Amino acid sequence: MNSPTTPASDARTDRAIAAVLGSAVGDALGAPFEFGPEGAFSARFPAAGCGGEMCGGGGWDVGEATDDTQMAVLVGESLVECGGLQLPEVFQRFRRWAAGDPKDIGLQTESVLTSGDPWDLAAALHFQHNGRAAGNGALMRAATSAVYFAPLGREATMDAGRRLAALTHGDRAAWEGTAILHELVRTALDGGDPLTALPAILAEVHPDHRARYTTVLSPDWHPDQATEFNGAVWPCLGSAVWALRTTSSYEEALRAAIDLGGDTDTVAAVTGTLAGALHGTAAIPPRWTTPLHVPLPGFGGRVLHVPELTELARKLAGGCTEPVA
Ligand SMILES: [Mg+2]
Repeated sequence: MNSPTTPASDARTDRAIAAVLGSAVGDALGAPFEFGPEGAFSARFPAAGCGGEMCGGGGWDVGEATDDTQMAVLVGESLVECGGLQLPEVFQRFRRWAAGDPKDIGLQTESVLTSGDPWDLAAALHFQHNGRAAGNGALMRAATSAVYFAPLGREATMDAGRRLAALTHGDRAAWEGTAILHELVRTALDGGDPLTALPAILAEVHPDHRARYTTVLSPDWHPDQATEFNGAVWPCLGSAVWALRTTSSYEEALRAAIDLGGDTDTVAAVTGTLAGALHGTAAIPPRWTTPLHVPLPGFGGRVLHVPELTELARKLAGGCTEPVA
């Protein structure tokens, strides 16, 4: 970054880095509490700011990021290395990773990536056979692509979100949720308030899916009202937005998200994407970033730490200035 930058672009880059780091931190922070009960995080760590929260457990080392961040890195590195959205190449990276025996992988994602079907049919065929494909597995990996496509504006951002989601999720509900998340991040990167932007974003959602997202993203919705487990796309996104709306810091938002229980790593990864983009890097506690690391199964034993994630986020933030075919 040798070119002269204005304070505004510095702030934007900082928010982009915070979206990527914030998502990874949330993933690693929430992973040990996956499938646990409500309130488990606060029960173990009653006071905010006291430390020890990045605790590991449940098969995860302290600070170890899960499939959520691993897949976000795969998407981000593909975008940077290909200079744009090359869906077959992203899919190929996903398959290589899935074959590398990751510690965790979503059921639906695994089924699609190991089917042997072509990249542009695998998710659709899975949906056709199973009838259920609205998991949160595309939301969880959205931070990197949201940062990359943001400079292209709302329509291109949401379209890219949909297309990336469709690689593994055949249900349009997952595409629309991922598109909404991308646009919320874009709004925050531009210095706007993602919550204020929600009505305009919902207007761009496919009509068949608008009502359901309007419900879970409305100011009076609470995660207790969810009609599905938060491994589904609607309550996962709704819970992340609820955590953002009802708190005033990155740390508080993450505590609220993990305390919901259930699919804690992914709900916290999505919350961390939004809270990072909104509050910036200074809001992410260093005691949470210091132990953070992202193994990349299938890629020669690579492990990314904060410097590598930051560099990736910087490249993504400055990367996309031309419309992608
Ligand atoms: Mg995970």
